Amino acid sequence: LEPAYQFMIRVRTPAGIATPQQWLAMDHLAHKYGNGTLRLTTRQAFQMHGVLKWNMKKNIQEMNEVLLDSIAACGDVNRNVMCSPNVDQSPIHEAVAYWATKISEGLLPKTTAYHEIWLDGEKVVDNTPAESETEPIYGPLYLPRKFKIGIAVPPANDVDVFSQDIGFIAIVEEEKLVGFNVVVGGGMGMTHGDTNTYPQLARPIGFIEPASIVDVAEKIMTIQRDYGNRAVRKYARFKYTIDARGLEWFEEELKERLGYSLAPARAYQFSFNGDRYGWTQTGDDSWNYTLFIENGRIQDVEGYLLMTALREIAEIHEGDFRLSPNQNLVIGHVTKEEKTKVEAIIKQYQLENPVYQSPLRKRSMACVSLPTCGLAMAEAERYLPSLLTKIEQMMVDSSLQEEEIVVRMTGCPNGCARAALGEIGFIGKGPGKYNMYLGGNHTGERLSKLYRENIDEAEILALLEPLIAHYAKDRLIGEYFGDFVVRNDYVKATVSGEDFHL
Ligand code: SF4
Repeated sequence: LEPAYQFMIRVRTPAGIATPQQWLAMDHLAHKYGNGTLRLTTRQAFQMHGVLKWNMKKNIQEMNEVLLDSIAACGDVNRNVMCSPNVDQSPIHEAVAYWATKISEGLLPKTTAYHEIWLDGEKVVDNTPAESETEPIYGPLYLPRKFKIGIAVPPANDVDVFSQDIGFIAIVEEEKLVGFNVVVGGGMGMTHGDTNTYPQLARPIGFIEPASIVDVAEKIMTIQRDYGNRAVRKYARFKYTIDARGLEWFEEELKERLGYSLAPARAYQFSFNGDRYGWTQTGDDSWNYTLFIENGRIQDVEGYLLMTALREIAEIHEGDFRLSPNQNLVIGHVTKEEKTKVEAIIKQYQLENPVYQSPLRKRSMACVSLPTCGLAMAEAERYLPSLLTKIEQMMVDSSLQEEEIVVRMTGCPNGCARAALGEIGFIGKGPGKYNMYLGGNHTGERLSKLYRENIDEAEILALLEPLIAHYAKDRLIGEYFGDFVVRNDYVKATVSGEDFHL
C-alpha cells in the first residue's frame, strides 16, 4: 500500500486576479481534494493544502478547466507576478494588471512537461537533441534560484516593491500610466548564522515606457541566468549577483543587452504598504470592497463562516476577485446594483467584526509555516493571532488601539511574509523561539534590524510592553513605530542589506 502522501498546490494568478468562476472552482476543489480551506499567499497566489498524491492529477485537470494552472508557481523560474490591486483607480489597475500578466506570460517556461504530466498532453518536443531551443529564455539550466517581480502603484507599496528581484513602480501622470521606474536586486531570504546572507532592498536604475516592460524584465532576468551563483545555492539569489559585481556593472550589462540606457527615474511617493479596507468607489463608477483575511486563510470556523460567505458572493458577483499582496481579498468591480446584495452577505455573515480586526491585526502578516511548510522552524500562521491578542491588550493599555504597526512573522528566514520589512518582525529560530527585529518603516522602504535573538513569548511580551508604553508617551505627532524605535536608538537604521547584521 502506498502511504497517503499529501501535497500543496500553488496556483499561478498573475496580478492576483481571479474570476468568480475561478473562485468557485478553487472553493470546490479545496473541499473535494484539499483540506477544505484555501490560502491566499503573500505573492497573490492561491495555495491548496492537503491534496493527496492520487488526487493531484484530477485536481490540476479540474483547475485547468477554469484556466488556472500551477506552471512556474514554484521552482527556479520567474514566480507569480505581483501587482497592486489599486482599489482607487480601476483604469490604472487594469493597465498595470495587463502588464503584470504580459510579464508572467512572457517569462513562463516553454516546456510542455506540465501538460504532458498533468493534462495528458501529447509530448510535443523530444528534448534529447537541443534542449536549449525549447527554452529560449531559461536555456537548459533554468535560473540559479527563484525570481520575483512585482509592480507597485504609488502611493501604495502593497507589493513591497523593494523586496522583489525586479520591482516596477508605476508612474501615473494626468491619470494615465506613462511608464515605470525600475528597481533591481531586492529579496527577503537569508540563512540563520550566515551573515553573508541578508535581506536586501531593490535599488533604482531608471525609467521605462510601458511597452518595454516585458523586454526589460527578460533582459534583466537573463543577466541573473548567466551570472548568478550556481555553486552555492544560498548565495544564488539575484541580490547577491548585483552586490558582488556592483550596480554599475549591472547597468552596463543591461545596456548592452537592451541596446539602450534607461531614462532617469521619475518622482513618486509611497505612503503605506498595507491594504485599505472597506468600500471604495472607482472612476468607472464601480465599487471595490477590500476584506481583511487573517493570514490569508479562507475557511469556515465556528462563528465566522468566511468561506461560505465568499462562495455566496462569488455566486452572484460579475466583477473580479483580487488577491492582495498582504493576503487580503478585494471584491472588485462591484456594480451599483450588485453592491446591495454583496453588502447584505457581508452583514449576514458578519465579515466586518471590529473586535476581531484591530488596526494592528489588520496590518499583520504571517507565512504558512507549520504544519505545511517543510522549511519551517517555528509556528507562524497558527501562532501570530494569539500573540497579537496579547500585543493588542498592550496597545489598549497605552491608548494606542487605533494605531497601526506593521507586524510580520515567518517560521524561517526564507522571508515569505517579508518579516524583514516589518516595523516589528519575528523570524522563527526553533520551536517557540523567534528572532525579533525592529525598525522597518511604514512604507516598506527600510529594512529592520535584529533586536533580540532566540526569544520565547514571555520574553517577547516583556520586551514589547515597555517599548509600546514608551512609544505612546514620547512619539512625535504622526510618527510611526518603526521610525520611533530608530530615533530612540532601540535599533540602528538599516540603510542597505549589507548593514542588516551590523
Ligand atoms: Fe516561507 Fe519559511 Fe514560512 Fe515556509 S516557514 S512559508 S519557507 S518563510
